[in-house]
Formats: sequence, structure tokens, C-alpha cells
Amino acid sequence: MKSLGIGLIGTGYMGKCHALAWNSVLPVFGDIPRPRLVHLAEANPDLATQRAAEFGFEQATGDWRELIANPDVDVVSITTPNAFHAEMAIAALEAGKHVWCEKPMAPALADAERMADAAKASGKTTVLGYNYIQNPMMRHISQLLAEDTIGTVNHVRVEMDEDFMADPTATFYWKSEASSGYGALDDFGVHPLSLLHYLFGNVSRVMASMAKPFPTRPLKDGTPRDVETFDIASVLFELETGASGVMALNRSAWGRKGRIALQIFGSRGTITYDQERMNEFQLYTTSDRGTEQGFRTILTAPAHEPYNRFIPAPGHGLGFNDLKIIECHELLNKIDGRPSQTIGFAEGLDIERAVHAMAQSHREQRWIAV
Ligand code: NAD
Repeated sequence: MKSLGIGLIGTGYMGKCHALAWNSVLPVFGDIPRPRLVHLAEANPDLATQRAAEFGFEQATGDWRELIANPDVDVVSITTPNAFHAEMAIAALEAGKHVWCEKPMAPALADAERMADAAKASGKTTVLGYNYIQNPMMRHISQLLAEDTIGTVNHVRVEMDEDFMADPTATFYWKSEASSGYGALDDFGVHPLSLLHYLFGNVSRVMASMAKPFPTRPLKDGTPRDVETFDIASVLFELETGASGVMALNRSAWGRKGRIALQIFGSRGTITYDQERMNEFQLYTTSDRGTEQGFRTILTAPAHEPYNRFIPAPGHGLGFNDLKIIECHELLNKIDGRPSQTIGFAEGLDIERAVHAMAQSHREQRWIAV
């Protein structure tokens, strides 16, 4: 594999996360050529220059199209707000670049479809920022399911809660604008949906209801502005496997900081996991003797690949940014034609279709086939 030139668009929360991943993927994994940090784009050119110096990029620009036109850029990291993803990703693919794009694909299904079409036409690699599927604990849960450890899965319950929109007095920003999407469902619910996709495949039908806890939020000058997105969503679903499920989403849930609580109920046992305790999961299996049956907690350890690439000692724990480093390595594997556990634009479209079916179900108050 040749050393790839990297372009990064956006330097906020996720932009920094991608920059850390590009800087760390070689030291952590050791099996790839060093990525060259070639070009960084930010909306504000001064901020672009500052961030390029901090993150280690050679060039900076206030115009992302300059970055796309740079022949030394082979891979583009897109970490801008959702409304920009389609335009930037399609332009990058048409210019012959591989794309690592933050989730969700795009607020409109038609744009997500155009992204998937552009990816197919280009023959280039695409990966979406579904980092939670990269947790070594999640990979091990997937292996346990494949090994039939808890029997046939008949019911899955997943909750995702955070409190970053819980304060009704917090200033209005892009996540409350309709241009960003529906709200909790696509900004947020796509993460639990990525776990369902990774562990079980597609969702087949849905019944959903969305809610706005705060109909207005203040602008910077205090004037109230109508909130256009839904911070809460409740969904009943069925998986293609036949299992039934419940998904509850709330980004206005005081006290919840990064909860993605998953309960998987099978015919011979149960697995539970919570992202707020991302270095452990719980397993209950009826194959234990009746006298000792109970949930046991399994802590992350070198046996859970690729934890061993980070730390040789068990139980010390990985963090959120480490998942992005693993995702970056999986992207490089995919570009190089090696096995890769990622969600690209083609599979991402399945998640987008489920989201739009949920929104349709909310509008029409009925079950919708995905
Ligand atoms: P952010 O507001 O912190 O950062 C966005 C950045 O994009 C800002 O620096 C902004 O100046 C820049 N930007 C906006 N328009 C631009 C343009 N035209 N050209 C260049 N730069 C531009 O937002 P964020 O929280 O980092 O979210 C960005 C994306 O990441 C969203 O799609 C969001 O859904 C996703 N996200 C993913 C995760 C995850 O766990 N994978 C977590 C949070 C956010």
C-alpha cells in the first residue's frame, strides 16, 4: 500500500477526532505506511491555518473545493454539519478520492441515494463515521451471537440518551434547524441503528413517534426561535431476522452523557451493554449451572482484538477517540482490499431508509415497511 495523502474538511468535535486518528493510526497498528496530512479546510481561513498547525497538516484553506482539487489528496475526511455531506462527498468521489464521511449521510434520502450512486460510479472506498461498531466489546458480542451463545435472538431493546440539548435556555444552533434533519432520529438514532445493522442486518418495518420537549430555543440576543427538529423519538421495529425490538432516543435527557444501552434477549441467554461503560458487557447464559446462573461482567482485554494494539494489559480500557483510530485503520484496510468491518455508503443507505421510514411512520401514525 502506498502512503496516502489526507484532506480534512471541518475541525470541530469530529474534525479533531479524525485528525487524532490520522496521527495515531500508524503508531497504534504499525502495519500501514504513514498517512501524509496534506490539506485542511475550514469555513474560516484563519481558523484553518491555526488548526493545520495544531493537527499537523501541510496546507490550509478556507475553500474546501481547493482541497478536493489538490492532486496530492487521496482520502477526504468530511466532518462538517450534516447538510454539507452530500455536496462534499460527491465532489470528492468525482475527483477520484476515497471518502471518510461523518454520519448521517445526508438529511434528505435523495441526497443519500446520490452519495451511494456516486460511490458506486467512482469505484472508490467510502466509510461512514459509525464508530461504535468498532468497539472490541461490540465485535466480541457479534462473535458470541454468531456462535449461538445466547440462542435465537427474539427481542432487542436499545436506548440512546444524552443531555447536550436538555437545557431549554441553551442558544439555538444548527441541530435545531430542519436543514440538519429530523433531530434525534437521524442525528443520533443512526448510531444504535448502526449497531443493529452490524449485529443483525436490516430493520424490516417500523412504527415511530417523535416529540419536541422545547418548541422554541433562544437566539444569541434572547429572541425565541421555533425549534424545527425533534429531540425525542420512540420506535417499535422488527428485524429481518424476525426479532422484535424497541428503540428509545432522547438528546434532552438530563444526566445521560453517552448512553447507548443495548439488551439482546435470546432463547438461551441475554447480553447487555452500555456505551457509558464501553469497556465491559454483561453475559447471562443458561449453559451455566443453575446454582451459579447470573450476569457476569466481561472486561475488555487483549483477547478482544484490536484492544491489544493499544494496550498489552487487560481491564485498562479504551476511549471514544480510540474507536475512531480503529475506524481509520478499517478504512485503510478497505482501501487496500483487506477484510474490513465498516459501514460504507451502500450499507449506510439501509440505515437512512430505516430513518426515513420512521419519520414517515410518525407523520402517518402507522407501521411502515423499510
Ligand atoms: P462541529 O460544529 O463541532 O464542527 C463542524 C465544523 O465544520 C466546524 O469547525 C465548522 O466551522 C466546519 N464547517 C462548517 N461548514 C464548513 C465549510 N463549508 N467548509 C469547511 N468547514 C466547515 O460539529 P461536529 O459535532 O463535529 O459534527 C460534525 C459532523 O460529525 C456531523 O455530521 C455530526 O453528525 C457528526 N458527529 C459524529 C459523531 C460520532 O460519534 N461519529 C459525534 C458527533 C458528531
